[in-house]
Amino acid sequence: MIKKTKIPILSITVAATLALSKLIVALYTGSMAILSSALDSILDIAASGVNYFALKASEEPPDKAHPYGHGKFESLAAFVQALIIMATGVYLFYKSVMGLIDKKDLSDINTGIYIMLFSMLMTLLLTISLRYYAKKYNSTIILTDAMHYEIDLLTNTGVLVTLFLVKYTGVYQIDFIVSSLISIYIIYSAFELARDVSSILLDREMSEEDQTKIRDILKEYDESFIDYHKMRTRSSGKTKFVDMHITLCKNMSLNDAHQIADLIEKDLQEKIPELDVIIHIDPCEIGHCPGQENCERFIDAIRTKKR
Ligand SMILES: [Zn+2]
Ligand SMILES: [Zn+2]
Ligand SMILES: [Zn+2]
Repeated sequence: MIKKTKIPILSITVAATLALSKLIVALYTGSMAILSSALDSILDIAASGVNYFALKASEEPPDKAHPYGHGKFESLAAFVQALIIMATGVYLFYKSVMGLIDKKDLSDINTGIYIMLFSMLMTLLLTISLRYYAKKYNSTIILTDAMHYEIDLLTNTGVLVTLFLVKYTGVYQIDFIVSSLISIYIIYSAFELARDVSSILLDREMSEEDQTKIRDILKEYDESFIDYHKMRTRSSGKTKFVDMHITLCKNMSLNDAHQIADLIEKDLQEKIPELDVIIHIDPCEIGHCPGQENCERFIDAIRTKKR
């Protein structure tokens, strides 16, 4: 069992081992595809390094400067990671196209095949453990890390197939064509990642599923308030935020009104983990109030709930 904040170190260790061995083999064989894979591993070190610091920061409790917690450090780190990956993709594409023009043959393809097999095995083991920990700790940052290495697994397979093709057909251009395809794929996946995390950075509402959960819980209290409105949701890291207004009888005592709001807040927080709720109380408007006798009914309803 590895502590949550220590998990990126696992990724960094694997990435560093692969980066070094692929780089040596790439220079030795002259394969652009292996070089592209080595470059990806070097960026993996950087990306998982960013995750390491982000995880540490997002685990910190709210403080004076960050009263809403540090959850967005996670999203910000993922966004930076996406930009880094995108930049590499562009560089790789350029190098691959230049390689096609330059024309250079490959040597000792067998060593290349061995290193790619080794890389695939290591990456496979890494993705399995990252998936496991992402679920266990319910962390988007570890999940992004896992998804990243899953893409790498795919590109590793591509490089391996390429080396086999070059070996048996002798058409070394396949190497450059595949590496340019890989780079296009890298750019595309980085763009998707950037789009996803920017919705959290820009306070996109909670998932439809979570919102329905909240509405269902509120339904259990429809005897206790006249209505609820202006519900707003957002999330930041693992913490979810909700605020809303509830309308209560204007003749109700402050104490009773507060009790109703408190009870709903506590119930929501119990049923939805890591939820931060604020309920604002509105008095009912003249003409829409249910009458004095109904105020008593609302108060009774909340008293029976409390018991
Ligand atoms: Zn990678
Ligand atoms: Zn209101
Ligand atoms: Zn209170």
